[in-house]
Amino acid sequence: MRRPFVAGNWKMNTDSHTGVILAEAIASAVLEFAGRSVDVAVIPPFIYLQVVARALGASHIALGAQDVYIESKGAFTGEISASMLKDVGCAYVLCGHSERRHVIGEPDELVNKKVMAAISGGLLPILCVGELLAEREASRTNEVVTRQIKNGLAGLSVEKVSAVTMAYEPVWAIGTGLMATPQQAQEVHALIRGLLVEMYDGQLADGIRILYGGSVKPGNAEDLMHQRDINGLLVGGASLNADDFTAVIQAAV
Ligand code: PEP
Repeated sequence: MRRPFVAGNWKMNTDSHTGVILAEAIASAVLEFAGRSVDVAVIPPFIYLQVVARALGASHIALGAQDVYIESKGAFTGEISASMLKDVGCAYVLCGHSERRHVIGEPDELVNKKVMAAISGGLLPILCVGELLAEREASRTNEVVTRQIKNGLAGLSVEKVSAVTMAYEPVWAIGTGLMATPQQAQEVHALIRGLLVEMYDGQLADGIRILYGGSVKPGNAEDLMHQRDINGLLVGGASLNADDFTAVIQAAV
């Protein structure tokens, strides 16, 4: 059985004070079900990981990072390795978030190296994929998502790929208030599941969680979660408000 998974990506928001207040509020609101009927993670900026970890206490809410570097240590000024993230309590790490792909310019090959580095360092990568609006309008969604998945998972054995969570996030729906309809999302999730069957096997593909992300809110979370291949939600803006994030988590239970 796949347990639903809801992760909140705080992006470059909060500070050491508001991040702690937010983490404490979420932790106390979801005390009863986090880690039991639903897995929950918060993904704060690097610099607040440790204070947020302390604020989460024994809540069973996991900690995630927004990015990871491909090397384990050395002369890589400004970068953070998987072992460092693990050291401060991270379980998850986003790889290939659309803002890293399209604002910072990360190509598929670098995303693949990050997925590998995360797994080697003992983290669980959340591999994000998704098409631009122009690509959807040109009917290129399947082609783009297929390429991102094949390149992103290249070289990963069956054992390693089972550590991965997939996230479909149409770029045009991230932070825009626009969202894919549950049917549009389900179509791409089914494509992703089919690719995993083709690349690995049915049993493994069945066990991998595929999250939807893109303007998820309390009002649309339940409909999304009713789709067959949507196993959880990756939430940006709404994860910065404890009540909204809690309501999204409740919709996923
Ligand atoms: C995200 O950051 O992954 C995201 C989906 O953002 P938002 O929910 O704000 O669209």
